[in-house]
Amino acid sequence: MVEVSTVCNLRCPGCERVLYQTDPALGGLPKSNVSLKNLKKLGHILPYIYSTYFVGGLGEPFLNPEFWDIHHFFKSFGIKTGYFTNASLIDENKIKTTFREGVDSVLISVDSHSRQRYEDIKKGSSFDKAVEGIRLFSRYRAAYKRQAFQLGLNFIFRSDNYGDILDYLDFAKDLGIDFINASGFIVHVKKEKDNNIFEINNEVKEQLFNQAHQKARRLGIRLRLPNIKPFRNCLCYHLWHGVCIFYNGDVCACPFFRTRRPFYFHADNDKVFYEERMYENTVLGNYLNQDFLTQIWNGPRAKELRRSELVGDKTINPCAFCYYKYDLH
Ligand code: SF4
Ligand code: SF4
Repeated sequence: MVEVSTVCNLRCPGCERVLYQTDPALGGLPKSNVSLKNLKKLGHILPYIYSTYFVGGLGEPFLNPEFWDIHHFFKSFGIKTGYFTNASLIDENKIKTTFREGVDSVLISVDSHSRQRYEDIKKGSSFDKAVEGIRLFSRYRAAYKRQAFQLGLNFIFRSDNYGDILDYLDFAKDLGIDFINASGFIVHVKKEKDNNIFEINNEVKEQLFNQAHQKARRLGIRLRLPNIKPFRNCLCYHLWHGVCIFYNGDVCACPFFRTRRPFYFHADNDKVFYEERMYENTVLGNYLNQDFLTQIWNGPRAKELRRSELVGDKTINPCAFCYYKYDLH
């Protein structure tokens, strides 16, 4: 995953940006676009990379004016690519370029099929504009004969929208969606804590998720749902399968903990529980001033995290209590 921008045109109340805006210990919200010049420093490792997703992370990828140049550079290594967008800036030109440049997959953040709920969660957005943009993907996919292209929606389960998922599947089918990535809401700031889905009864979730799986199968949509509870002997795949590259050159083990920060939900003894704790970052190094293979991918922090995960070291922060590794998110 490559974060290409930390600038955003929306103001979602549940976004990680709010943590940066409200917690002075984090040093303020970065407002930065990643340059192609910097990313070119990764050129020597890109021949060995299978796939990457370009994300805003703390922003919207299309606010980076170099977005297509960056994509083109990565694509020149034969890498499978995708991007994750809030859809607010999608237009015909961007969709045509998406197909011309050979993007393999696009994931669009849509948390509800109800206009009002969508616009409440995505403050500053227009539901109609997002839907119009999504429809254009299907039209141009046919025009460019890109049947293998995959169009997905990212749906975040919250306590106020989890019951929407069955109707949302019909909405997705109508839009020509191939897959839905449904994850649990991440609580970045304490005042959003009641929007989490851990307090929803597990039996309720199990029943709903079973119905959703069946319906998705019937509609021909691939549906990824979060796990309902942690399971034993789980190892975090993030530590071995890839890295997340952030705007400032930091290379992190996982997308979630790029910086030391407070965090509210944790997994232990097969349960998820609430408690405010400080979590450490998972920065492995910085590609702008360190050698990627020897000092970052095989550097001391990477080795420490992998070793502690293999032996189940309960003292390692944040991996020891992190609920993400159980795919609960
Ligand atoms: S669109 Fe994404 S990055 Fe922008 S404010 Fe909303 S959640 Fe945050
Ligand atoms: S265990 Fe959690 S914190 Fe550690 S790398 Fe995996 S997802 Fe990130």
